[in-house]
Parts: sequence; structure tokens; C-alpha cells
Amino acid sequence: MISVEEALDKVLSYIEILEPERKPILDCLGQVLAEDVYSDIDVPPLDNAAMDGYALRAEDTRGASESSPVYLSVVGEVAAGSMPTREVKPGTAIRIMTGAPLPEGADAVVQFENTDEVNRKLSGDDLSQIGILYQAKKRLNVRGRGEDIAKGNLVLEKGRVLRPQEIGVLASLGHPTALVIRRPIVAILATGDELIAVDQPLAPGKIHNSNTYTIAAEVSRYGGVPKILGIGRDSIQSLTEKIDGGLDADMLITSGGVSKGDYDVVKDVLAEHGEIGFWTVRMKPGKPLAFGIIKKTEGGREKKVPHLGLPGNRVSSMVTFEQFARPAILKMMGKKILAKPVIRAIIENDIVATDERRLFARVNVIKRKGQYRASLTGHQGSGILTSMTKANGLAVIPENSKGVKAGDMVEVQMLDWAEEQDEVKTLPTVSIVGKSASGKTVLMEQLIAEFKRRGYKVATLKHNHHGTVEIDHPGKDTWRFARAGADAVLVSSPNKLAFIENLNYDLRLEEIMPIVGPGFDLILAEGFRRSKSTRKIEVHRKGLGNDLLCSPEELSAIVTDGSLDIDVAQLPWGDTVAVADFIEKNFLRTVS
Ligand code: AMP
Ligand code: MG
Repeated sequence: MISVEEALDKVLSYIEILEPERKPILDCLGQVLAEDVYSDIDVPPLDNAAMDGYALRAEDTRGASESSPVYLSVVGEVAAGSMPTREVKPGTAIRIMTGAPLPEGADAVVQFENTDEVNRKLSGDDLSQIGILYQAKKRLNVRGRGEDIAKGNLVLEKGRVLRPQEIGVLASLGHPTALVIRRPIVAILATGDELIAVDQPLAPGKIHNSNTYTIAAEVSRYGGVPKILGIGRDSIQSLTEKIDGGLDADMLITSGGVSKGDYDVVKDVLAEHGEIGFWTVRMKPGKPLAFGIIKKTEGGREKKVPHLGLPGNRVSSMVTFEQFARPAILKMMGKKILAKPVIRAIIENDIVATDERRLFARVNVIKRKGQYRASLTGHQGSGILTSMTKANGLAVIPENSKGVKAGDMVEVQMLDWAEEQDEVKTLPTVSIVGKSASGKTVLMEQLIAEFKRRGYKVATLKHNHHGTVEIDHPGKDTWRFARAGADAVLVSSPNKLAFIENLNYDLRLEEIMPIVGPGFDLILAEGFRRSKSTRKIEVHRKGLGNDLLCSPEELSAIVTDGSLDIDVAQLPWGDTVAVADFIEKNFLRTVS
């Protein structure tokens, strides 16, 4: 038996990215762009009004206010879609609608609300004059030509997944079509003498074919085009015939017929017509799984079609599809991120794992108080498809574990979350580590000040393994509330908020980072030397010995008052500017 990873590597090693095709942009949703897209126009094409109001010269409004309006003569009107016919000369204004091109001579737009237009209308006054009640700065309410997209710029790069906003950008550029990696055609065959088509009445001993539908819907969901081959019977002849109809597809998926039963002939067909990489995978559900290449000669040329033989049980076929067919489809489509997002959640049930296989347990994940919690969706039999309808994730219980107890942390693959979520940029985070008395906190203080001087928004984070948090000082009210048993203590003052939650496990830095939120440029953390996913800089003082807390491979740099014979960037202790430069250059200016 091979591991899930080995099986996936094997499948992917046979899968190639498909060729590109040009097609209407609306058909491209979710597909990968196969060309760099440059703009040959400015968007917007001209300076234009961002508000309904009056286009005028900002300098004409000097000193204007509600109590002392400036009066301008109105020399025309311009609506979106038409071009102004007159120029704005000193002392004049042109009535303008949102999106209309700014007339020659004008450099600002004052919105209706800041004029006396409404009063004039109410009192039947002359509209050839307008009172401006507001002193405008140049460019007020003006959208600049090319401010969204400048002519000549690279707007969307090759490899981008097209979402609605990218499709809108293509339309803004006047591109009715795009070059994208084409969608894979996936042939789907159900096997079994017991299967009855969905629109036929059941007969004794028979069941409806549901796998074809689950699998076809999965194929569509991930961007492929299902080609349904119907139901093959449990004989080599029937299967061979049916499979033949799928050999013009990019991939063939069968369900059933891969266990050890007498009638499980899928692997025999595979052996006869192709190259088998048959295996059993160390997973539950889904141990029996076949993979291979079916060969076909077409016009003298040999064609190879990857074939995934999924198990027949209704849950097993879906779970194995998710692990192997989905990444294969995404790879064919040119996607780079093939894995489902995995989160850590607290499991609400005991799960017993009895053998050496990795267990995929159907769970429903909800977020409570900022923490994910996963509960089993009932009977875990491999035919209980309704337990999948209640699930939004698969809890992954590692092979060779004894299972988990309620309250433990588990990893959950989120089935309904898009792969692209992984691409979401997390904030650059740098941890300053070092032995105690090495001067970490001093360096933190200096770096914070330096980054503030450079205009960055900096969040800081302190890992305090002693358990108390400084704002939690003995004797203070918050400390007394916490001691009295409160689960969380919030302290607010007019311009600050602190939140202390008692947890019975250690949060990892990765779990804390999202709480900091997106409004910052950098997180500077003190401590967290075990965190795997952040960059680490260790402070080293020769007075404390020549050894380091972290191994050199883990470190981005060291800050030292000596010099060490190791292959890591060394920055001088005391030169905060050099440390800030290093962080800025390596972590803040990198484009991901
Ligand atoms: P097999 O792998 O062919 O031994 O099938 C395992 C189980 O899955 C059997 O109980 C089958 O009846 C069931 N099964 C196989 N194919 C389908 C299908 N297309 N739809 C629903 N159940 C199926
Ligand atoms: Mg069968």
C-alpha cells in the first residue's frame, strides 16, 4: 500500500497541462490565462467627473463658503457619453454628470450639494448663474485619465485564474475574447450489474447509479467538462466497449469494479489495454483505487489517456475524487495551487482510528468565537452519501495514530473553499528571537520606531511563555476578572482595545496572524522561535556564548556584536537602520 502523497505524485506525473484556446471572455470563468494582457488604451480614456455637479476652475472658488458663495456663469452642460462643446473660462462653470469628460479649462468638479442649485430651482431663480458654496482644490471629484489602467501597461499576467473582476478588466480593455488553457474533457463510466439508470424504475437487487452524477458534478465544479459514458456491466467485453467511447477524452474516471470481488474487472481491462499503476492506497475510505494509462492508436499515433478507477461506494468515490481527480483536473487547467485549504479545528467527537490508513472523516466545520470547531456528520459508513451532504470538510486523521479525542486539534480539508484561498497574502511577519538578555526587546523597540519613520503600519506581537500577559498585571482589575474565572477579558479605553482569552492550548503564530487583520504592512513578533512559517532573525551577543538558539537553516539573518562562522546574513548589533533595510528589502518589497 502506498501513501496518499505517493499516489497523488504518481497520478500527477502522468498529467500534462492542456493547450490554450481563444474564446469569449464570459466562457472563461475559472480558467487560467495563457497570455500576458497589455492595455492599448487608457482606462478611463479621459479625465472625467466623479460626481454630478459643476466643472470649474478651482482657483475661481477661492474663499467660497455657505455664507459667502462665489457666483459663476453657467455656459453649458455635459452628460456621460457626450463630449463638452465649450471650454471653462475664468468665472464660468459647466454643469456636468458623473462619468462625463471634464471640459477644457476645468480642473475640479463641485457637487450639486455644495452649490445653491436646489435653492435656485425652488425659488424659480435664473440658472444661468450658480453659487458655489465650497472652496475646491484642484482635481476635486476628477477621475484622472488612465488612473485605473494606463496605456501600455501589463494588466493581467499569464497564469492568472480569471475571476469575475478579471473578466470585467478584459471587457474594460475592449477584449471580447481571451486566450486560456482549455477545459479538460473527463469521461465518466459507472460499472456494475446492479446499476439502474436514474430515470428507470428500480428492480429487485438493483440500485440507481448515483456515482456518475456525483462525479460529473465534481468535474464541472472544478472546471472540467464531463462526458458521460453510461453504465458498463461487470464483464471485460462490456467495459472495453464502453471505455472505448471515452478515449477521446483527456481523462477517464470509472467507479466500482476495483475491489477484490470476482466481478471487479476494471483492473483487468486496464491491464489489457494499458499500463497499470495499480495500487491500494493507505486511506479510508478508498483503499481500493486503480490508476493507469489506457493506450489507443489513432491515425498511427499512440494516444494515452490517464484512467482513474475510483471505488464504487458512494462516499469512497467522492473522497478519492477529491484527493486525486480534482488535483489532476486543476493541473490540466494550468492551475498552480492544487490542494484544498487545510485549517486547524477543534474536534467535537472522539474518533477511533484502528488501522494504519489515513482516515478522512466527514465533518461540519463552524467558526465559534474565532475558533473553528469540527463535528462528525453521523454514520461514517462508506455508502452513507447523506453524511457528505451534511459535511463541509474532511478531518484528516493521520495514519498510525490511535485516533483523536474530543477537544483535540485536527486538520480539516475544506471541501467548499476554493483552492485560490491559499493564494491570499498573509502579512509579512518577522520574529525576533534570541536568548534572554540578548537585547531582543531593545531591537524590537528600535525597529518599530524605524519602520514608523519609514511610513509602515506595524503590528507587534509578544510571545510570553511564562503565561502572564503584561496588561494582565497582578492586582489589576483585568487580572482579578481573569482570576475569578472569566474565559475572556476585554479592556477598552477611548482609543485602545485589548483582548485576553484563556485557552487550554498554545496558539501557533499562523493562527494569531489573521487576528491582527489586514490593515498592517508588517508584523514584528518577539519570540515564536518554533514557528515554521515566518522569517526569523536571531539576536546574538558574544557575551552569551557562540551558540545560537535556532539552527542556521531556520534563520533569515542574525544580528550580532561578534561574528559567527556560519552561512547566514550577519547584521551589526546596534545598527537598526541596517536591520530595517534588510527586512524592508527582503520581506516588504517582494512581489508575490
Ligand atoms: P464495487 O467497487 O464495484 O465493488 O462497488 C462497491 C459498492 O458501491 C457496491 O455496493 C456497489 O453497489 C456500489 N456502487 C458501485 N457503483 C455505484 C454507482 N455508480 N452508484 C451507486 N453505487 C454504486
Ligand atoms: Mg461493482
